[in-house]
Amino acid sequence: MKQILFTDLDGTLLDLYDYTYDAAIPALDALKSRNTPIVFCTAKTLPENEYYREELGIKDPFIVDNGGAIFIPDKYFSFEFECKNRNGYCVVELGVAYDELRKALKEIRAETGFKITGFGDMSVEEVAEDANLDVEKARRAKAKEYNESFIFDEPEEKEGVLFDKIIDKGFSYTHGGRYYNIHGKNADKGKAVKILTELFKREYGEVKTIGIGDSMNDIPMLKAVEQPAVVRNKKGGWLDISLTNLYKAQGEGPEGWVEVVEKFVL
Ligand SMILES: [Mg+2]
Repeated sequence: MKQILFTDLDGTLLDLYDYTYDAAIPALDALKSRNTPIVFCTAKTLPENEYYREELGIKDPFIVDNGGAIFIPDKYFSFEFECKNRNGYCVVELGVAYDELRKALKEIRAETGFKITGFGDMSVEEVAEDANLDVEKARRAKAKEYNESFIFDEPEEKEGVLFDKIIDKGFSYTHGGRYYNIHGKNADKGKAVKILTELFKREYGEVKTIGIGDSMNDIPMLKAVEQPAVVRNKKGGWLDISLTNLYKAQGEGPEGWVEVVEKFVL
């Protein structure tokens, strides 16, 4: 049966701090030689995904901006389906366009007076400094299309008002680490995984799906696959969720990733 691997990047296939993945190279090669699709399912932008696809030599579809859109290389599947043609990809959009998200954020700022600073308000150099990235990485991180990340420089008790405003305007939010995110309410890693799984089934008949993640924003993906797995995080623990048949890898980041791939795929 065809196996399909859905994987988060930061903190999972890539080390959370320095983005290295050396430990995973032999397993990546083994997956490629078996033609097992490796589908990135990440908060990263299109250029960030393209950077890692190129570097790792992966040619499979990928999910950007936390489920904002699915990019499928032209002619990847043998059949046609509804999508937007764009630069060699067939794109299935689930999220809302960046301009609309920016507009909503500006309205919220005007209505509440909250100190909100989006990536769109910052220069590439400011993003580099704030996110501790080099300028090239910051340029790719800033190229958001279906999500806007922002700093909310207010006391935590004001979060509720912020979240209500986002919902009132018809959008959704996530919060992880330093940044908050505003996005369309249909932008969801789980929905994107389900759509792609259906496409893979049309191509291959029965498939088995495996998903690997490390944090909150992976939960919808983990719920949408047959075999969910989490890798150990930098604090030595695992994402706190109870899911039937969830596999908890002993290894952290890329080492845990290899463990999952060896156990369930190779
Ligand atoms: Mg992650």
